[in-house]
Amino acid sequence: MSHANATPHVAPLYDYIIAGAGGAGLSLLHYLLDSPILSNKQILVIDQSLNKTNDRTWCFWEIGDHEFESLVQHRWDAISIHAESFSKELPTSPFSYKMIQGIDFYNYVMTAAKLKPNVHWVEAAITNITEANADQPQKEVLLEWDGGSAKAKLAFTSILPFQMNNLASASKYDSRNQSSTHLPFLWQHFKGRTIAFDKPVFDQKVARLMDFNVPQHGATAFMYLLPINEMQALVEYTLFSDQILEISEYDKVLNEYLSKHYPDFTYTIQHEEIGAIPMTQQTFSNFKAPIYPIGALGLAIKASTGYAFKFIQQQCKSIVAQLEQGAAINTNVHNTRHRFYDAALLHVLFYHKMEGAEIFKRIFAKNNAATVFKFLSNTSTLWEDIQIMRSLPTRIFLPAAIAVLWRRG
Ligand SMILES: Cc1cc2nc3c(=O)[nH]c(=O)nc-3n(C[C@H](O)[C@H](O)[C@H](O)COP(=O)(O)OP(=O)(O)OC[C@H]3O[C@@H](n4cnc5c(N)ncnc54)[C@H](O)[C@@H]3O)c2cc1C
Repeated sequence: MSHANATPHVAPLYDYIIAGAGGAGLSLLHYLLDSPILSNKQILVIDQSLNKTNDRTWCFWEIGDHEFESLVQHRWDAISIHAESFSKELPTSPFSYKMIQGIDFYNYVMTAAKLKPNVHWVEAAITNITEANADQPQKEVLLEWDGGSAKAKLAFTSILPFQMNNLASASKYDSRNQSSTHLPFLWQHFKGRTIAFDKPVFDQKVARLMDFNVPQHGATAFMYLLPINEMQALVEYTLFSDQILEISEYDKVLNEYLSKHYPDFTYTIQHEEIGAIPMTQQTFSNFKAPIYPIGALGLAIKASTGYAFKFIQQQCKSIVAQLEQGAAINTNVHNTRHRFYDAALLHVLFYHKMEGAEIFKRIFAKNNAATVFKFLSNTSTLWEDIQIMRSLPTRIFLPAAIAVLWRRG
């Protein structure tokens, strides 16, 4: 009797592969499992680490409740902005500014998904995502990692060429090497701490959204301070610039800020987070159907602010709706008009045409928070856009707008 050769590895075929189980991958998984039409599809979720940690805090504004309302740790109905002698507190109604801990979100989605036999998990670093059967009518995706591979009818990937919660990895990314290199690229980089004071000190009703009275490092820099209760807060030193700092530089500013503002109090550090979020309209991939980039890779981040959580929800919900209808999938979340404003604002910041502190001070000085939030959520009307634009100097923003149009043309 002859011995057969070892059976060659045949990559199993899934309906969907979700490559990257972070903010976008797990949001998509959640909406798929929530869909009466798609919840039984065979889904493979793959991430280099499925042992999730509390690596980020998500904040966002919205009207009313949302999908993950039970995870909201704190909400604020007022924000404050500070720049030199300017100081303003603004009620956010009808919006609330909300905070979710990353780990609560990961646990919530993964715990529910792990009960589903049609969801399969692989912990491995993906090395390649390619289209298989390109010449056949029924296209497939081939996903490879060290020691394994899998196929799917469709794949959704959020794997960037750098890690947003690893400053060293982000620093190594060379945005000038990309195909869309003519578009401005800034990092929104920060280090944050959750601190607890020994006695009550904060007004927990007001989120200090931007305090520009910190070293600007030749860029746009501010302190972001979110009181969770009277004694505890998340405080982050945040910059919009092309150069990521050494960790010690964020720490220095955080230490100075806390001792300046709270000289008679002592605090303990309960948690720390770091981040480098790309603020750009550059693309990070050239995947096409049946491979779809989502999350930061799928340009869900708003280029002028770095906010992404709500846009990721919008993107993933919309993908699921399109899958349900059997429609061609479009992952765009930012409309043309608001993309244009983002490009103009980014142009001004990138080319140092006006200081970020001055821009945001003027916007918040002359508008109510709800109008600004709508503008930054891409939901403002043309009339509201005009109100925001009237807060800003035409001599700076008109040439920026023309430069953006010229670049496109
Ligand atoms: C610290 C931090 C705080 C943030 N705070 C806010 C906020 O307050 N509000 C807001 O709107 N946005 C915020 N953002 C921006 C944005 O919402 C998040 O970055 C969001 O997590 C983006 O989701 P994503 O799925 O695109 O990326 P990620 O959540 O980073 O997910 C990518 C996943 O891919 C995995 N992966 C990477 N490489 C591989 C590989 N080769 N093989 C397998 N798996 C891989 C990673 O392990 C990760 O799980 C923050 C970002 C950071 C980093």
